[in-house]
Amino acid sequence: MSYSAYNDNSLGFTTRQLHAGYDPAEHNRSKAVPIYQTAAFELGDYERCLRLFQYEEEGDSYVRFSNPTNRVLEKRISSLEGGSAAVSFGSGMAAISNTLLTLAHSGDNIVSVPTLYGGTTTLLQKTLPAYGIEGRFIEDQDDVESYRNYIDDRTKAVYIETLGNPCMNVLDVDAITELAHSYGIPVVIDNTFATPYLFRAFEHGVDIACYSATKYLSGHGVNIAGIVAESGRFNFRNGRFPEFDRFYEEYSDWIDDETLSGEIFTKRLRITYLTDLGAHMSPQTAFYVLQGMETLSLRMERHVANAQKLAEFLYDHPQVDEVLYPGLPSSPYHELATKYFPKGPGAIMTIRVKGGEEAALKVLEKVRVFDYMTNVGDAKSLIVHPMSSTHFGHSVKENEKAGVYSNSLRLSVGIEDIEDLINDLDQALSV
Ligand code: PLP
Repeated sequence: MSYSAYNDNSLGFTTRQLHAGYDPAEHNRSKAVPIYQTAAFELGDYERCLRLFQYEEEGDSYVRFSNPTNRVLEKRISSLEGGSAAVSFGSGMAAISNTLLTLAHSGDNIVSVPTLYGGTTTLLQKTLPAYGIEGRFIEDQDDVESYRNYIDDRTKAVYIETLGNPCMNVLDVDAITELAHSYGIPVVIDNTFATPYLFRAFEHGVDIACYSATKYLSGHGVNIAGIVAESGRFNFRNGRFPEFDRFYEEYSDWIDDETLSGEIFTKRLRITYLTDLGAHMSPQTAFYVLQGMETLSLRMERHVANAQKLAEFLYDHPQVDEVLYPGLPSSPYHELATKYFPKGPGAIMTIRVKGGEEAALKVLEKVRVFDYMTNVGDAKSLIVHPMSSTHFGHSVKENEKAGVYSNSLRLSVGIEDIEDLINDLDQALSV
């Protein structure tokens, strides 16, 4: 039988989430992707060893660097994303931090927005500055022209999130990528909340997409995982990135020119940062993420349908002051959401409960179907009070800028029966 679904990118998204990147003929015809539970691989002979280390042959030597299970995951996400290559990491934060370290060095800066995941805000505000990399936060993220005031010769990336955390604001990504590219700067997006199914990052000019695969890609809350994907369209040899020029000089004798120019970011990310900092994803985790991704589009359709119905119910609820969800026509981001998310703007929303913090905390005590957890993107519905958890320790001003108040609750809407979700929140909100 000739089997070609694994490398046929003309197939639909749902077909590719099941088949892309995996040829059973290369794995003893096992239909499930095997978990290569080994620390290292036998090199074979001296010539093969040289071919591997000179990148002439695709293969594996040591698992911190690469593994056949992870390679299937990397090829699959790259196919779903429509990019040139991807690298898997042990967590979403490892994916993001290694991406930023690959782009920026001491003396450089990253321009970003205030409504980021809290861990990324801390990375840009505290951790990276300790190594000489400045995180610059734009005052008004919706005013794209104002981004120019933060960019200079040492800016190495504009870093954004597809749907802001936790208030689900939507950025004008087309305008941001156009502006950044006019300076020769790549745009990195954290596409965790939308996934490649709901948001086509590379089709909107984004150059690098980072994921906490812990969330929707895995989908069942069973592992911590991260992935970085590259579009292959950004020219990193445009004069702004001397480290990429040096990397090119070092590797151009070994890696063919087409591969090196189309994947120079992921090559440097893997060869330098994954290898030196060691935040690799275990093959067991890669297997779980692959399992989850087989149903990604189906789950996202259900997540989004449930979220829309729940948002509409909560919008009319007498105990709810505000519902922040861009699928609602009342949202200031509804128009952008309609443009960028034709299949629906994700399934995370934030509500503000009437009666202040005390009333919000009561809801947490009373929910029966929703689980009180800091995670998002699980098939199960989750609820959290951001002020005392995900956004704990940030100043009131910072939190208000991110849309977090003492009566805010963030919901990650799961795929349960919608009537049960509506009834659960209705009884939890009742006074
Ligand atoms: N990005 C977003 C949007 C997140 O919500 C999270 C975690 O909640 C992360 C990144 C970090 O991911 P991980 O926990 O897998 O390191």
